[in-house]
Amino acid sequence: MTGYHAPHKMANESSPAMPQSNLHLQRVFHDAFRQLDRGQRRFRLNVADIEVKFYPYAGLHHTIRARSGRVYVRLSDLFQTAPPEVIRALAFLLVARLLSRKAPVAHERVYRAFAFSPEILRASDLARRQRGRKVISSAQGRIYDLEKIFARLNRRYFDSELPKPVLTWSRRKSRSILGHHDTAHDTITISKALDSGEVPEWFIEYIVFHEMLHIKHPARVINGRRYYHTRAFRSEEQGFKHYRQSQEWLDRVIRRRHEVRARAA
Ligand SMILES: [Zn+2]
Repeated sequence: MTGYHAPHKMANESSPAMPQSNLHLQRVFHDAFRQLDRGQRRFRLNVADIEVKFYPYAGLHHTIRARSGRVYVRLSDLFQTAPPEVIRALAFLLVARLLSRKAPVAHERVYRAFAFSPEILRASDLARRQRGRKVISSAQGRIYDLEKIFARLNRRYFDSELPKPVLTWSRRKSRSILGHHDTAHDTITISKALDSGEVPEWFIEYIVFHEMLHIKHPARVINGRRYYHTRAFRSEEQGFKHYRQSQEWLDRVIRRRHEVRARAA
């Protein structure tokens, strides 16, 4: 990681989950483990080892994962109003999924009756539209126009063949994330902090160029891990005309950020 663009993570994954008093939920999941994981062959869990939270996913979605002897469950916040038998059915379905076991049919039926009711379908549709929407401001900044920069780089380095994504300045002046390419929304976002007369154009070009390379070189998955900055990516990146200067400018940006932090501490 070089630190000038966001770690390429799933949308929403970093937002804090909603607080919820959940001893009851933990007990329901604990019970599902006791019944499905007979003899506790795979998990020896206490109630306290299970964390259950409601989470504002875009759309109807729940997750369960196990890590270092603990289990983490996130339920769609659309289920906050679900009756107890529905939560119980969902707990069995999720635990069965974690154990790679077939879920009891009765639980499937109870879950579906609630999840596919018109009210929940409407609510999940709304959540998907509102939460899944990307905020687009504009490619035309105060000083620099990202459309022009993109077109110029595309001509110079990609024979104008790179498909154009949505280009936008970020709404906030982030100094830790200077650029970001989002595959799901086909968007390149550049930090508004760079839209300044004090920042040389070649540095913005460099950040945009880096994100353009993410379009050309999709992430490679090796053993379940994603690699974004492959060797091919890096060597092509070094072909940028102002690569050296850009690295030095980047060092300055990072150093200044640390100084600000040190002063604040
Ligand atoms: Zn990158």
